[in-house]
Amino acid sequence: MEDIIEYVKKFFDTDSFPARWHCGKWSEFHGWLYILSDVAIWAAYFTIPFILLRFIRNKKDVPFRRVFWLFGAFILACGATHLIDAAIFWFPMYRVSAFVRMVTAIVSWATIFALYKIIPHALLLRTPKEMELEVQLRTEELNDVVKKMRFMADVMPQMVYTATPDGTRDYFNKKTVEYTGKTYKELEGWKWIDLIHPDDRPQFQVGWNESVEYGNAFQHEVRILAANGNYYWHLTRALPQRDEHGRIACWVGTATEIEQQKRTAEILENLVLQRTEELRHANQQLLQSNKDLEHFAAFASHDLQAPLRTISTYLGLIRDRNAVVLDEKSNNIISKAIAASVRMRNLIETLLQFSKVNASQALLTEVDLVSLIAAIRISINDADGSKKAIITNGTLVRINADESLIGQLLQNLISNGINYNENEVPKVHIEAYKQGNEVIISVTDNGIGIERDDLDSIFDVFTRLQSQIKGTGLGLSISKRIVEKHAGRVWVESEINKGTTFYIALPDTRPGTSQPKK
Ligand code: ADP
Repeated sequence: MEDIIEYVKKFFDTDSFPARWHCGKWSEFHGWLYILSDVAIWAAYFTIPFILLRFIRNKKDVPFRRVFWLFGAFILACGATHLIDAAIFWFPMYRVSAFVRMVTAIVSWATIFALYKIIPHALLLRTPKEMELEVQLRTEELNDVVKKMRFMADVMPQMVYTATPDGTRDYFNKKTVEYTGKTYKELEGWKWIDLIHPDDRPQFQVGWNESVEYGNAFQHEVRILAANGNYYWHLTRALPQRDEHGRIACWVGTATEIEQQKRTAEILENLVLQRTEELRHANQQLLQSNKDLEHFAAFASHDLQAPLRTISTYLGLIRDRNAVVLDEKSNNIISKAIAASVRMRNLIETLLQFSKVNASQALLTEVDLVSLIAAIRISINDADGSKKAIITNGTLVRINADESLIGQLLQNLISNGINYNENEVPKVHIEAYKQGNEVIISVTDNGIGIERDDLDSIFDVFTRLQSQIKGTGLGLSISKRIVEKHAGRVWVESEINKGTTFYIALPDTRPGTSQPKK
């Protein structure tokens, strides 16, 4: 321990030893040969690490960099021992020399260990010759793939091409050459653009340039000049192929002939246009004939009523004036004639209503169904000869509708509920509630009901299921028209001898009472 302390204390002390010149018998030549050789070795050893440093700096991907650093340190340390050896001729710094030698020994062994560790890996490194062979092999493989790809492209029925990242075409398949009748040389670069129909070219070029600039997939329909001098429609597509860094490596594109589809689409389009025009024309004619019919119905109904009224009035007069002379049979005949003319007047009246509903426009206002039904109740119960009925109601929300039309509709449904009813006291129940964005109005009776097979036809004009009960067969068709005028729906549910419910759904935006779907 004392030795070590003394060693450290006298680390730079040179007094304990003689300078090498005085140690033994050195001739001038021998001494200087020793000194100069040592200095030369040191200079060389000092330079080598810098060369190594420069090498690994410039060759970033050189493997085993740590070993290079260690090797540099090892050479530097070796050089230092030689420099000290030369210096000892004048300055006998043996302690420093021992330390430098110890450092050199450590670095040397560290280098040996590092070298030993990398040997298996280093053995795997390929020599330039091996590398050359590998590149050759890969190139052959690549050429093989390219050949296969080109063969594939050649058997395709479409035109196939590739382009460099800036859009310059650098390959065309056989089909392109066949279709265009041009050689590869006549098509390469941007020469192929001349084959695009002049009318389609500007737009095509703008689209293609944009795709090349932003790397977007390209798709366009254009006419391309064929070898026979005609242009045919093609669907052209191109996709960018990217490398592992996301950069565009090349473009791969196709052009597929769609002439037939285009023609078919054109024919279809013309056909649709023609049909639309025909439909518009037919619709116009229909509208006109509807209008004429409505005018006729209104006019005929009005003009027919007057003579009918006259007939029934005169028949009544004949009966009253000749009451004494007329026997019972003749009296009956006249009464039947009067009743028939009244029925005809009713029919004409209903026809008039029907034509009016058709011609009229629904005038929407807020309708209070409670008071509307109260008024209908009074008018029905006051009507001559009608059965006494119980008309009740549940929830009745306010609705947006044409009050007079909705009144007519409810009157029809309630009257039917009473008329087609064999009970002593017929019952009709009305409700109106919100369901989703609709208002549902229901009119339920306890009447005779309707057969399932007749449910659809009862809304048709002049449909009458019970001829023994008075009616015109127009009430429900008028009702349906009224619902349609409100952009609504009407449907019916019924059970024989139990009763019938008519449902009317009208579009509604008003807030109101909601009830679960039945
Ligand atoms: P009508 O003037 O004959 O009542 P509608 O168009 O109002 O004409 O009705 C057509 C037919 O539908 C009626 O003849 C009747 O047979 C049937 N019908 C209508 N409402 C009801 C009902 N509530 N119950 C049973 N049958 C009905």
